[in-house]
Amino acid sequence: MKENMKTIPAMDMILSQDWVCSWIARLGRAYVKDIISRNLQILRSRLKDNDSEIFSWEEFRRTCIKSFTHSGLKRVINATGVVIHTNLGRSLLPEEAINAAETSAKYYTAIEYDTENGTRAGRNIHVEGLICSLTGAESALAVNNNAGAVMLCLYAFAHGREVIVSRGELVEIGGAFRLPDIMSLSGAKLSEVGTTNRTYLKDYEAAITPDTSMIMKVHRSNFRITGFTHEPERKELAELAHSHNIIFMDDAGSGYAAGNFPGEPEIRQCIHDGADIVTFSGDKIFGGPQSGIIAGRRDLIDRLKHHPMNRALRPGKMTIAALEATLRLYLNGEYGRIPTIRMLSTDTDTLRHNAEELAREISRLIRAEVHVIETDDASGGGSCPGEMLKGWGVFVRGNIQAELRSMDIPVICTAKDGGVIFHVRTLQEGEAKIIAESVAKIFSE
Ligand SMILES: *Cc1c(COP(=O)(O)O)cnc(C)c1O
Repeated sequence: MKENMKTIPAMDMILSQDWVCSWIARLGRAYVKDIISRNLQILRSRLKDNDSEIFSWEEFRRTCIKSFTHSGLKRVINATGVVIHTNLGRSLLPEEAINAAETSAKYYTAIEYDTENGTRAGRNIHVEGLICSLTGAESALAVNNNAGAVMLCLYAFAHGREVIVSRGELVEIGGAFRLPDIMSLSGAKLSEVGTTNRTYLKDYEAAITPDTSMIMKVHRSNFRITGFTHEPERKELAELAHSHNIIFMDDAGSGYAAGNFPGEPEIRQCIHDGADIVTFSGDKIFGGPQSGIIAGRRDLIDRLKHHPMNRALRPGKMTIAALEATLRLYLNGEYGRIPTIRMLSTDTDTLRHNAEELAREISRLIRAEVHVIETDDASGGGSCPGEMLKGWGVFVRGNIQAELRSMDIPVICTAKDGGVIFHVRTLQEGEAKIIAESVAKIFSE
Protein backbone atom coordinates (compact mmCIF):
# COMPACT_ATOMS: atom_id res chain seq x y z
CA MET A 1 0.00 0.00 0.00
CA LYS A 2 1.17 3.51 -0.75
CA GLU A 3 2.39 5.47 2.28
CA ASN A 4 -0.07 8.34 1.99
CA MET A 5 -3.03 5.93 1.84
CA LYS A 6 -2.15 4.67 5.31
CA THR A 7 -2.92 8.11 6.70
CA ILE A 8 -6.65 7.62 6.04
CA PRO A 9 -8.33 6.60 9.31
CA ALA A 10 -10.66 3.60 9.60
CA MET A 11 -14.43 4.07 9.54
CA ASP A 12 -14.86 3.07 13.22
CA MET A 13 -12.29 5.63 14.23
CA ILE A 14 -14.16 8.35 12.31
CA LEU A 15 -17.55 7.31 13.71
CA SER A 16 -16.28 7.70 17.27
CA GLN A 17 -15.34 11.37 16.82
CA ASP A 18 -17.41 13.85 18.83
CA TRP A 19 -18.39 15.99 15.85
CA VAL A 20 -19.67 12.87 14.05
CA CYS A 21 -21.71 11.73 17.06
CA SER A 22 -23.68 14.97 17.06
CA TRP A 23 -24.63 14.40 13.42
CA ILE A 24 -25.56 10.77 14.14
CA ALA A 25 -28.00 12.07 16.74
CA ARG A 26 -29.60 14.30 14.11
CA LEU A 27 -29.49 12.23 10.92
CA GLY A 28 -29.18 8.64 12.09
CA ARG A 29 -26.15 6.35 12.08
CA ALA A 30 -26.81 4.55 8.80
CA TYR A 31 -27.15 7.76 6.81
CA VAL A 32 -24.11 9.44 8.40
CA LYS A 33 -22.05 6.32 7.73
CA ASP A 34 -23.11 6.34 4.08
CA ILE A 35 -22.07 9.93 3.61
CA ILE A 36 -18.72 9.37 5.31
CA SER A 37 -18.10 6.29 3.23
CA ARG A 38 -18.85 8.18 0.01
CA ASN A 39 -16.47 10.99 1.02
CA LEU A 40 -13.79 8.45 1.95
CA GLN A 41 -14.10 6.88 -1.47
CA ILE A 42 -13.57 10.23 -3.18
CA LEU A 43 -10.60 10.91 -0.89
CA ARG A 44 -9.00 7.51 -1.60
CA SER A 45 -9.06 8.00 -5.33
CA ARG A 46 -7.62 11.49 -4.90
CA LEU A 47 -4.77 10.32 -2.67
CA LYS A 48 -4.04 7.46 -5.05
CA ASP A 49 -3.46 9.97 -7.83
CA ASN A 50 -1.43 12.37 -5.75
CA ASP A 51 1.51 10.98 -3.72
CA SER A 52 2.27 14.20 -1.91
CA GLU A 53 -1.22 14.61 -0.44
CA ILE A 54 -2.02 13.14 2.97
CA PHE A 55 -5.23 12.89 5.00
CA SER A 56 -6.30 16.09 6.75
CA TRP A 57 -8.82 15.79 9.58
CA GLU A 58 -9.79 19.43 9.27
CA GLU A 59 -10.54 19.18 5.57
CA PHE A 60 -12.36 15.86 5.88
CA ARG A 61 -14.49 17.24 8.66
CA ARG A 62 -15.41 20.29 6.58
CA THR A 63 -16.34 18.17 3.57
CA CYS A 64 -18.50 15.83 5.63
CA ILE A 65 -20.30 18.65 7.44
CA LYS A 66 -21.04 20.22 4.09
CA SER A 67 -22.64 16.98 2.93
CA PHE A 68 -24.58 16.65 6.19
CA THR A 69 -25.95 20.18 6.10
CA HIS A 70 -26.88 20.00 2.44
CA SER A 71 -29.16 17.07 3.02
CA GLY A 72 -32.85 17.66 3.53
CA LEU A 73 -35.34 20.34 2.57
CA LYS A 74 -34.64 23.39 4.68
CA ARG A 75 -36.67 26.38 5.62
CA VAL A 76 -35.01 29.56 4.31
CA ILE A 77 -35.70 33.26 4.65
CA ASN A 78 -36.51 34.96 1.37
CA ALA A 79 -35.03 38.45 1.62
CA THR A 80 -34.73 38.84 -2.16
CA GLY A 81 -37.95 40.77 -2.71
CA VAL A 82 -38.91 38.27 -5.43
CA VAL A 83 -42.36 37.15 -4.35
CA ILE A 84 -42.93 34.11 -6.57
CA HIS A 85 -39.41 32.71 -6.30
CA THR A 86 -39.45 29.35 -8.09
CA ASN A 87 -36.20 28.18 -6.45
CA LEU A 88 -37.61 28.99 -3.03
CA GLY A 89 -40.92 27.20 -3.55
CA ARG A 90 -43.07 29.87 -5.25
CA SER A 91 -46.22 30.69 -3.27
CA LEU A 92 -46.66 30.44 0.49
CA LEU A 93 -50.05 28.99 1.23
CA PRO A 94 -52.88 30.83 2.96
CA GLU A 95 -53.53 29.69 6.54
CA GLU A 96 -56.83 28.13 5.43
CA ALA A 97 -55.04 26.08 2.77
CA ILE A 98 -52.41 24.90 5.25
CA ASN A 99 -55.09 23.75 7.66
CA ALA A 100 -56.98 21.95 4.92
CA ALA A 101 -53.81 20.20 3.73
CA GLU A 102 -53.00 19.21 7.30
CA THR A 103 -56.44 17.72 7.89
CA SER A 104 -56.14 15.71 4.69
CA ALA A 105 -52.74 14.46 5.81
CA LYS A 106 -53.85 13.54 9.32
CA TYR A 107 -57.24 11.98 8.70
CA TYR A 108 -58.93 9.88 6.06
CA THR A 109 -60.86 12.13 3.69
CA ALA A 110 -63.57 11.47 1.14
CA ILE A 111 -61.12 12.43 -1.58
CA GLU A 112 -62.60 9.96 -4.08
CA TYR A 113 -65.65 8.81 -2.19
CA ASP A 114 -69.31 9.76 -2.39
CA THR A 115 -70.48 9.71 1.23
CA GLU A 116 -74.14 9.90 0.20
CA ASN A 117 -74.19 6.75 -1.91
CA GLY A 118 -71.14 4.97 -0.54
CA THR A 119 -69.61 4.78 -3.98
CA ARG A 120 -66.44 5.87 -5.72
CA ALA A 121 -66.23 9.48 -6.90
CA GLY A 122 -63.68 11.66 -8.68
CA ARG A 123 -61.20 13.85 -6.77
CA ASN A 124 -61.67 16.70 -9.21
CA ILE A 125 -65.21 17.43 -7.98
CA HIS A 126 -63.85 19.22 -4.89
CA VAL A 127 -62.40 22.00 -7.00
CA GLU A 128 -64.22 21.93 -10.32
CA GLY A 129 -67.31 23.94 -9.38
CA LEU A 130 -65.19 26.51 -7.57
CA ILE A 131 -62.88 27.00 -10.57
CA CYS A 132 -65.93 27.38 -12.82
CA SER A 133 -67.47 30.02 -10.54
CA LEU A 134 -64.23 31.92 -10.40
CA THR A 135 -63.39 31.82 -14.11
CA GLY A 136 -66.78 31.64 -15.78
CA ALA A 137 -65.79 28.38 -17.48
CA GLU A 138 -68.25 25.52 -18.09
CA SER A 139 -65.94 22.88 -16.73
CA ALA A 140 -62.51 22.53 -15.14
CA LEU A 141 -59.78 20.08 -14.20
CA ALA A 142 -56.82 20.32 -11.83
CA VAL A 143 -53.58 18.45 -12.52
CA ASN A 144 -50.09 18.32 -11.04
CA ASN A 145 -48.72 21.54 -12.57
CA ASN A 146 -49.18 23.82 -15.56
CA ALA A 147 -46.51 22.10 -17.62
CA GLY A 148 -48.56 18.93 -17.14
CA ALA A 149 -51.76 20.78 -18.02
CA VAL A 150 -50.30 22.00 -21.34
CA MET A 151 -48.87 18.56 -22.07
CA LEU A 152 -52.20 16.85 -21.39
CA CYS A 153 -54.13 19.27 -23.62
CA LEU A 154 -51.70 18.94 -26.50
CA TYR A 155 -51.65 15.18 -26.20
CA ALA A 156 -55.40 14.82 -25.98
CA PHE A 157 -56.36 17.34 -28.67
CA ALA A 158 -53.42 17.56 -31.04
CA HIS A 159 -51.51 14.26 -31.06
CA GLY A 160 -50.46 13.69 -34.68
CA ARG A 161 -52.05 16.98 -35.75
CA GLU A 162 -50.97 20.59 -36.22
CA VAL A 163 -50.95 23.39 -33.64
CA ILE A 164 -50.51 26.97 -34.81
CA VAL A 165 -48.37 29.20 -32.57
CA SER A 166 -46.94 32.67 -33.18
CA ARG A 167 -43.13 32.84 -33.46
CA GLY A 168 -43.29 35.56 -30.81
CA GLU A 169 -44.70 33.06 -28.30
CA LEU A 170 -42.34 30.07 -28.58
CA VAL A 171 -41.25 30.55 -25.00
CA GLU A 172 -38.85 28.85 -22.64
CA ILE A 173 -40.10 29.05 -19.07
CA GLY A 174 -37.06 27.58 -17.34
CA GLY A 175 -36.64 24.17 -15.78
CA ALA A 176 -36.59 22.74 -19.32
CA PHE A 177 -40.11 23.84 -20.24
CA ARG A 178 -39.61 24.87 -23.87
CA LEU A 179 -42.75 25.05 -25.92
CA PRO A 180 -41.38 23.40 -29.09
CA ASP A 181 -40.07 20.47 -26.99
CA ILE A 182 -43.36 19.97 -25.13
CA MET A 183 -45.08 20.12 -28.47
CA SER A 184 -42.98 17.35 -30.04
CA LEU A 185 -43.13 15.25 -26.87
CA SER A 186 -46.93 15.33 -27.06
CA GLY A 187 -46.83 14.24 -30.69
CA ALA A 188 -48.30 17.52 -31.91
CA LYS A 189 -46.85 19.22 -34.98
CA LEU A 190 -45.83 22.80 -34.40
CA SER A 191 -46.89 25.19 -37.12
CA GLU A 192 -45.03 28.49 -36.54
CA VAL A 193 -46.51 31.64 -37.95
CA GLY A 194 -45.55 35.32 -38.13
CA THR A 195 -42.29 36.80 -36.92
CA THR A 196 -40.79 37.38 -33.50
CA ASN A 197 -42.31 40.84 -33.19
CA ARG A 198 -45.30 40.89 -35.53
CA THR A 199 -47.91 38.25 -36.14
CA TYR A 200 -51.21 39.04 -37.89
CA LEU A 201 -54.56 37.31 -37.94
CA LYS A 202 -54.01 36.54 -41.61
CA ASP A 203 -50.81 34.63 -40.72
CA TYR A 204 -52.85 32.32 -38.52
CA GLU A 205 -55.56 32.03 -41.14
CA ALA A 206 -53.13 31.11 -43.92
CA ALA A 207 -51.64 28.33 -41.78
CA ILE A 208 -54.91 26.50 -41.17
CA THR A 209 -55.03 23.14 -42.99
CA PRO A 210 -57.37 20.13 -42.69
CA ASP A 211 -54.74 18.76 -40.27
CA THR A 212 -54.93 21.68 -37.87
CA SER A 213 -56.36 20.87 -34.44
CA MET A 214 -55.87 24.16 -32.66
CA ILE A 215 -54.59 27.69 -32.46
CA MET A 216 -52.57 28.11 -29.29
CA LYS A 217 -51.72 31.34 -27.54
CA VAL A 218 -48.86 31.22 -25.05
CA HIS A 219 -48.33 33.95 -22.49
CA ARG A 220 -44.90 35.58 -22.60
CA SER A 221 -44.38 35.00 -18.91
CA ASN A 222 -40.80 36.05 -18.47
CA PHE A 223 -39.96 38.53 -21.20
CA ARG A 224 -41.49 41.38 -23.13
CA ILE A 225 -41.49 42.35 -26.75
CA THR A 226 -41.75 46.08 -27.19
CA GLY A 227 -41.41 48.53 -30.07
CA PHE A 228 -42.64 47.62 -33.56
CA THR A 229 -45.02 44.84 -32.55
CA HIS A 230 -48.38 43.40 -33.44
CA GLU A 231 -50.53 40.51 -32.32
CA PRO A 232 -54.21 39.78 -32.90
CA GLU A 233 -56.72 40.16 -30.07
CA ARG A 234 -57.84 37.01 -28.23
CA LYS A 235 -61.36 37.58 -29.53
CA GLU A 236 -60.15 37.58 -33.14
CA LEU A 237 -58.19 34.37 -32.64
CA ALA A 238 -61.20 32.71 -31.01
CA GLU A 239 -63.49 33.75 -33.88
CA LEU A 240 -61.01 32.53 -36.47
CA ALA A 241 -60.61 29.17 -34.73
CA HIS A 242 -64.34 28.68 -34.35
CA SER A 243 -65.11 29.58 -37.95
CA HIS A 244 -62.78 26.72 -38.94
CA ASN A 245 -64.07 24.36 -36.29
CA ILE A 246 -60.77 24.14 -34.45
CA ILE A 247 -59.87 24.75 -30.80
CA PHE A 248 -58.50 28.00 -29.41
CA MET A 249 -56.27 27.26 -26.42
CA ASP A 250 -54.69 29.87 -24.18
CA ASP A 251 -51.74 28.99 -21.91
CA ALA A 252 -52.06 31.95 -19.57
CA GLY A 253 -49.01 30.89 -17.53
CA SER A 254 -49.53 32.76 -14.32
CA GLY A 255 -52.87 34.33 -14.97
CA TYR A 256 -54.78 36.07 -12.24
CA ALA A 257 -58.23 35.95 -10.78
CA ALA A 258 -58.22 39.06 -8.59
CA GLY A 259 -56.32 42.31 -8.33
CA ASN A 260 -54.58 44.13 -11.13
CA PHE A 261 -51.38 42.74 -12.60
CA PRO A 262 -50.24 44.70 -15.64
CA GLY A 263 -49.51 42.53 -18.65
CA GLU A 264 -50.91 39.35 -17.11
CA PRO A 265 -54.02 37.83 -18.66
CA GLU A 266 -57.04 37.65 -16.40
CA ILE A 267 -58.45 34.13 -16.57
CA ARG A 268 -62.10 35.20 -16.59
CA GLN A 269 -61.36 37.56 -19.48
CA CYS A 270 -59.64 34.79 -21.48
CA ILE A 271 -62.76 32.61 -21.14
CA HIS A 272 -65.00 35.58 -21.90
CA ASP A 273 -63.01 36.37 -25.04
CA GLY A 274 -63.73 32.90 -26.37
CA ALA A 275 -60.84 30.65 -25.33
CA ASP A 276 -62.03 27.03 -25.45
CA ILE A 277 -59.30 25.98 -23.03
CA VAL A 278 -57.26 28.09 -20.61
CA THR A 279 -54.40 26.67 -18.56
CA PHE A 280 -52.53 28.34 -15.69
CA SER A 281 -50.32 27.59 -12.67
CA GLY A 282 -51.86 27.24 -9.23
CA ASP A 283 -48.75 28.49 -7.44
CA LYS A 284 -47.79 31.62 -9.36
CA ILE A 285 -49.88 34.81 -8.94
CA PHE A 286 -52.85 32.64 -8.01
CA GLY A 287 -51.04 31.94 -4.73
CA GLY A 288 -52.15 28.36 -4.10
CA PRO A 289 -50.40 24.97 -4.07
CA GLN A 290 -48.37 23.65 -7.01
CA SER A 291 -50.97 22.60 -9.55
CA GLY A 292 -52.05 23.15 -13.13
CA ILE A 293 -55.56 24.38 -13.68
CA ILE A 294 -57.43 23.76 -16.90
CA ALA A 295 -60.69 25.63 -17.45
CA GLY A 296 -62.90 25.63 -20.52
CA ARG A 297 -65.54 23.98 -22.67
CA ARG A 298 -67.32 20.99 -21.12
CA ASP A 299 -66.94 18.61 -24.07
CA LEU A 300 -63.19 19.25 -24.18
CA ILE A 301 -62.61 18.98 -20.43
CA ASP A 302 -64.61 15.72 -20.46
CA ARG A 303 -62.15 14.30 -22.97
CA LEU A 304 -59.25 15.33 -20.71
CA LYS A 305 -60.85 13.75 -17.67
CA HIS A 306 -61.04 10.38 -19.43
CA HIS A 307 -57.59 10.56 -20.98
CA PRO A 308 -55.06 8.02 -19.57
CA MET A 309 -52.46 10.77 -19.23
CA ASN A 310 -54.73 12.58 -16.77
CA ARG A 311 -54.23 9.69 -14.35
CA ALA A 312 -50.47 10.21 -14.52
CA LEU A 313 -50.83 13.91 -13.70
CA ARG A 314 -53.24 13.47 -10.80
CA PRO A 315 -52.74 15.96 -7.95
CA GLY A 316 -52.27 14.61 -4.40
CA LYS A 317 -54.92 14.94 -1.71
CA MET A 318 -53.03 17.69 0.12
CA THR A 319 -52.93 19.66 -3.12
CA ILE A 320 -56.66 19.25 -3.72
CA ALA A 321 -57.41 20.29 -0.14
CA ALA A 322 -55.17 23.37 -0.31
CA LEU A 323 -56.44 24.35 -3.75
CA GLU A 324 -60.05 24.08 -2.64
CA ALA A 325 -59.37 26.31 0.38
CA THR A 326 -57.56 28.90 -1.78
CA LEU A 327 -60.41 28.94 -4.30
CA ARG A 328 -62.90 29.57 -1.49
CA LEU A 329 -60.89 32.61 -0.35
CA TYR A 330 -61.15 34.00 -3.88
CA LEU A 331 -64.86 33.37 -4.05
CA ASN A 332 -65.33 35.08 -0.66
CA GLY A 333 -63.27 38.04 -1.84
CA GLU A 334 -60.68 37.50 0.90
CA TYR A 335 -57.66 38.19 -1.28
CA GLY A 336 -55.75 39.72 1.62
CA ARG A 337 -55.52 36.27 3.19
CA ILE A 338 -53.52 34.98 0.23
CA PRO A 339 -49.82 35.63 1.02
CA THR A 340 -48.72 35.98 -2.61
CA ILE A 341 -51.39 38.55 -3.37
CA ARG A 342 -50.68 40.33 -0.08
CA MET A 343 -46.93 40.54 -0.68
CA LEU A 344 -47.43 41.72 -4.25
CA SER A 345 -49.69 44.54 -3.12
CA THR A 346 -48.02 45.72 0.10
CA ASP A 347 -47.82 49.53 -0.10
CA THR A 348 -44.45 51.28 -0.03
CA ASP A 349 -45.17 53.13 3.23
CA THR A 350 -45.58 49.84 5.04
CA LEU A 351 -42.47 48.45 3.39
CA ARG A 352 -40.46 51.53 4.38
CA HIS A 353 -41.71 51.28 7.95
CA ASN A 354 -40.74 47.59 8.12
CA ALA A 355 -37.31 48.34 6.64
CA GLU A 356 -36.72 51.05 9.27
CA GLU A 357 -37.61 48.60 12.04
CA LEU A 358 -35.25 45.97 10.65
CA ALA A 359 -32.46 48.54 10.32
CA ARG A 360 -32.97 49.60 13.95
CA GLU A 361 -32.92 45.98 15.10
CA ILE A 362 -29.66 45.27 13.26
CA SER A 363 -28.01 48.54 14.38
CA ARG A 364 -28.77 47.65 17.97
CA LEU A 365 -26.69 44.48 17.63
CA ILE A 366 -23.73 45.42 15.44
CA ARG A 367 -21.49 48.35 14.69
CA ALA A 368 -21.33 48.61 10.92
CA GLU A 369 -22.87 50.72 8.21
CA VAL A 370 -26.60 49.97 8.20
CA HIS A 371 -29.25 52.01 6.41
CA VAL A 372 -32.60 51.68 4.70
CA ILE A 373 -32.61 51.76 0.94
CA GLU A 374 -35.11 51.74 -1.91
CA THR A 375 -35.15 48.42 -3.74
CA ASP A 376 -36.32 46.91 -7.00
CA ASP A 377 -38.52 43.99 -6.05
CA ALA A 378 -40.23 41.67 -8.52
CA SER A 379 -43.23 39.43 -8.73
CA GLY A 380 -41.02 36.73 -10.31
CA GLY A 381 -42.09 33.20 -11.19
CA GLY A 382 -42.76 34.10 -14.77
CA SER A 383 -45.22 36.90 -14.20
CA CYS A 384 -45.31 40.61 -14.99
CA PRO A 385 -41.94 40.60 -16.82
CA GLY A 386 -40.20 43.95 -16.88
CA GLU A 387 -42.54 45.36 -14.23
CA MET A 388 -40.38 46.37 -11.28
CA LEU A 389 -42.06 46.65 -7.91
CA LYS A 390 -40.73 49.54 -5.89
CA GLY A 391 -39.75 48.25 -2.49
CA TRP A 392 -37.68 48.97 0.59
CA GLY A 393 -34.84 47.13 2.22
CA VAL A 394 -31.88 47.35 4.55
CA PHE A 395 -28.29 47.68 3.40
CA VAL A 396 -25.56 46.22 5.63
CA ARG A 397 -21.94 46.78 4.64
CA GLY A 398 -19.81 43.62 4.47
CA ASN A 399 -19.35 40.64 2.16
CA ILE A 400 -21.54 38.33 4.19
CA GLN A 401 -23.91 36.91 1.57
CA ALA A 402 -22.33 33.42 1.61
CA GLU A 403 -22.21 33.33 5.41
CA LEU A 404 -25.89 34.24 5.57
CA ARG A 405 -26.63 31.26 3.36
CA SER A 406 -24.80 28.95 5.75
CA MET A 407 -26.93 29.84 8.80
CA ASP A 408 -29.18 27.20 10.42
CA ILE A 409 -32.02 29.01 8.69
CA PRO A 410 -30.27 30.29 5.55
CA VAL A 411 -31.00 33.92 4.72
CA ILE A 412 -31.18 34.51 0.96
CA CYS A 413 -30.59 38.15 0.04
CA THR A 414 -29.08 40.30 -2.69
CA ALA A 415 -25.61 41.91 -2.71
CA LYS A 416 -24.48 45.27 -4.02
CA ASP A 417 -21.70 47.84 -3.52
CA GLY A 418 -19.74 45.85 -0.93
CA GLY A 419 -22.76 44.96 1.16
CA VAL A 420 -25.94 42.93 1.33
CA ILE A 421 -29.55 44.08 0.99
CA PHE A 422 -32.49 42.54 2.82
CA HIS A 423 -35.69 43.25 0.89
CA VAL A 424 -38.51 43.37 3.43
CA ARG A 425 -41.40 42.67 1.03
CA THR A 426 -40.91 38.91 1.19
CA LEU A 427 -40.19 38.60 4.92
CA GLN A 428 -42.65 36.65 7.08
CA GLU A 429 -43.58 37.29 10.69
CA GLY A 430 -40.62 36.95 13.05
CA GLU A 431 -38.05 36.77 10.27
CA ALA A 432 -36.68 40.28 10.78
CA LYS A 433 -35.52 39.17 14.22
CA ILE A 434 -33.84 36.05 12.82
CA ILE A 435 -32.05 38.16 10.21
CA ALA A 436 -30.79 40.61 12.84
CA GLU A 437 -29.51 37.75 15.01
CA SER A 438 -27.84 36.07 12.03
CA VAL A 439 -26.06 39.27 11.07
CA ALA A 440 -24.98 39.79 14.69
CA LYS A 441 -23.63 36.24 14.85
CA ILE A 442 -21.59 36.72 11.67
CA PHE A 443 -20.17 40.05 12.89
CA SER A 444 -19.22 38.63 16.29
CA GLU A 445 -17.19 35.76 14.76
C1 LIG B 1 -44.92 28.86 -15.69
C2 LIG B 1 -45.48 28.54 -17.00
C3 LIG B 1 -45.67 27.20 -17.40
C4 LIG B 1 -45.27 26.07 -16.52
O1 LIG B 1 -46.01 26.05 -15.35
P1 LIG B 1 -45.52 25.20 -14.08
O2 LIG B 1 -46.50 25.56 -13.04
O3 LIG B 1 -44.14 25.65 -13.77
O4 LIG B 1 -45.57 23.76 -14.47
C5 LIG B 1 -46.20 26.97 -18.64
N1 LIG B 1 -46.54 27.98 -19.48
C6 LIG B 1 -46.38 29.27 -19.14
C7 LIG B 1 -46.76 30.34 -20.10
C8 LIG B 1 -45.86 29.59 -17.88
O5 LIG B 1 -45.69 30.87 -17.53
